[in-house]
Amino acid sequence: MIDSHAHLDFAEFDSDRKQLFDSMKQAGIETAVIPGVSPAHWDQQLAIAKEYVCPFGLGIHPWFCDEEITVSLAELKLKLEKYQFDPKLVAIGECGLDKLRNKNWQAQIVSLEAQLTMAKQLELPVILHVVKAHNEMLSILRKHALPKAGVIHGFYGSVEIANEYIKLGFKLGIGGLILNHNTQKLKNCVAHLPLDSFLIETDSPAMTPSNSAETRNTPLILQSIIVEIANLQKKSSVLISEHAFRNVVQLFDLKLKLI
Ligand SMILES: [Zn+2]
Repeated sequence: MIDSHAHLDFAEFDSDRKQLFDSMKQAGIETAVIPGVSPAHWDQQLAIAKEYVCPFGLGIHPWFCDEEITVSLAELKLKLEKYQFDPKLVAIGECGLDKLRNKNWQAQIVSLEAQLTMAKQLELPVILHVVKAHNEMLSILRKHALPKAGVIHGFYGSVEIANEYIKLGFKLGIGGLILNHNTQKLKNCVAHLPLDSFLIETDSPAMTPSNSAETRNTPLILQSIIVEIANLQKKSSVLISEHAFRNVVQLFDLKLKLI
């Protein structure tokens, strides 16, 4: 298994990161893709990705788009120039649109458009964070036509919206939300997803399933996500696991030495 989205660089993991990576190996989790969130986070993120040989994305999360966004985007460009030949750099992101935190909406749009352009130039996929903004995101993506498309991480939406993203070549990141009781719309959507259209992810340390005793989420819940997808699709866990693995390797073009 590979966790396609986990912030293992965050301070929540500082006290036991080494043990967590050991437990992941024991549980059959090869690695995790670590997304970038802001200039202030990149150096720690890059250090952790190097130490644990994790694939990573570089980008600016919509929560971190402020009046300094032009400066941040210039910094992102420099970082990408520096890391563009590092085989661990596998994506631009996470970037996106979040209407629950929309005070900076204009900066979010500017930031997203700029990062989509960078993804196109570097021929990298994008990791997208989309909250209550699927229509806006879809119309922006139709305009950009990215060569490698990307993933809608932590997807929460209907079958119809999922199909619109799939038509554009995107994959859907399915995470711990499907383990919660009150997510029937998403479960119904996951039941109908084609086998080549989804990735599995945890978004650790966030998105802890509501039935968990832990407050911090970790990649160790991946197996229960696979089991739930298998239940919903009425297929075997092995089949779901194999497809999820193939899909993440293909989307991020993961080299064997990274996994
Ligand atoms: Zn994230």
